Amino acid sequence: MDLRTFIALLAVGFGAALAAQPAPAPGATLYEGARLILGTATSPIERGSFLVQDGVIRAVGAVGRVAVPSGARRVDLAGKTVMPALVNVHVHIGYEGYSTWHARNHTPANVVDHLQRSAFYGTAATTSVGTSPLHQMLQVQADQRAGKLPAAARLLFMPGLAPPNGGPDAVLRVATNELKVVNEVTTPAEARAAVQRLAGQGLRHLKAWFDDRRGTYPKLPVETYLAIVDEAHKQRMTLHSHAIALADQKLVLKAGTDVLVHMVQREPLDAEYLALVREKKPYWATVIGLGDPTEVCNPDPFFEQAMPDSVIGTIRATMERRPLAPGCGPPNPTAAARETQMAINFPQMLEAGARVVLATDTGIQPGHTFGSGEHVEMARWVQLGMSRAEAIVAATSRPAELMGQSDLGSLAAGKRASFIVLDANPLEDIKNTRTIADVYLDGARLDRAALRAGFKRETR
Ligand SMILES: [Zn+2]
Repeated sequence: MDLRTFIALLAVGFGAALAAQPAPAPGATLYEGARLILGTATSPIERGSFLVQDGVIRAVGAVGRVAVPSGARRVDLAGKTVMPALVNVHVHIGYEGYSTWHARNHTPANVVDHLQRSAFYGTAATTSVGTSPLHQMLQVQADQRAGKLPAAARLLFMPGLAPPNGGPDAVLRVATNELKVVNEVTTPAEARAAVQRLAGQGLRHLKAWFDDRRGTYPKLPVETYLAIVDEAHKQRMTLHSHAIALADQKLVLKAGTDVLVHMVQREPLDAEYLALVREKKPYWATVIGLGDPTEVCNPDPFFEQAMPDSVIGTIRATMERRPLAPGCGPPNPTAAARETQMAINFPQMLEAGARVVLATDTGIQPGHTFGSGEHVEMARWVQLGMSRAEAIVAATSRPAELMGQSDLGSLAAGKRASFIVLDANPLEDIKNTRTIADVYLDGARLDRAALRAGFKRETR
């Protein structure tokens, strides 16, 4: 046999051997060795591996159990923990400018900045609730889908309904009035027409501000609120209802709201209320993660890495003058009483079957970056009695399910490869969700160092 024949035979043999393997996969990457927290009720895989191709998870299993196409790149994650990237169902995007906070900040560029901050902290999708201009949101979404924007959290949003001069809290309302973004309705007929118009624009979620904010706001007439619920469901829309008092939360539960927004914090829950929660099993946006005071009052580098030092100094100085909770500012007895009541109410809600979903209210007032509040919210749940495993489900697969983002929220074949690599295990200490080594969105590693440098720059 001459050398040429030998080489030819070798090539045939090699080709046959190749054919017996999975097809060559340019661009496939195997991440191996990490503890995998799947984002669902399933137990973690202690030494796991998962294969990613074209931005999608193709297979997940124990190390050695995932078929690896030849040519796949390997990333060693031994000693790390991987969990799905987070999904936040409640923020108010656009107004925060870090040194300023007002309606003029609500530009597409600032929305993208907030989405990048969210991604920096491990959030794959975040939802602006009732306070953003519709046309701008649709434009940013279209640009994002077309791949025109930098890597960032996926933008979700929903319009909001309130009576004239109702709507968001006193700080945010000034800005939303300026942009005229709240859909103001008084009568049931107006409410139905508004819901139909919004449904006609393809929107699937809707927010209603129902209550009177302890007597300081006009309240939606009950028959108007009931018309919103009925019409939203006729239009197959999911309704998120703002209510904070026990009687108001009972009403929205009886009416059939899909999502309960906020927590009864100043009153004990009663048997009638808990029976309603048990019967309806609502999604529940607790919205306690912003904390009072703001996170940067806590001298933690996790919060400080996304704001210039001068801004952190200004926020702390402002907070020192505001009567909030211990940390920044003078002690606040109201906050202490609320904390005591929450410690009773929260476990009762869990026991009754409320389906907690990640929601932070970030952006509702100055002084909070986007993305970090998610980690505060999870820690608050655990502090109030939720298991760490359940907190991760409530921050990943459950909000993804609520928001119709079926490609996010868990580590499973077919899902987008949007995940967080952690240095420490949040099932041992929930605050370990803050030990972020890397964030991947759609299979691509986020350049967090470059983002951090931009966030810390004094003149943006
Ligand atoms: Zn809100």
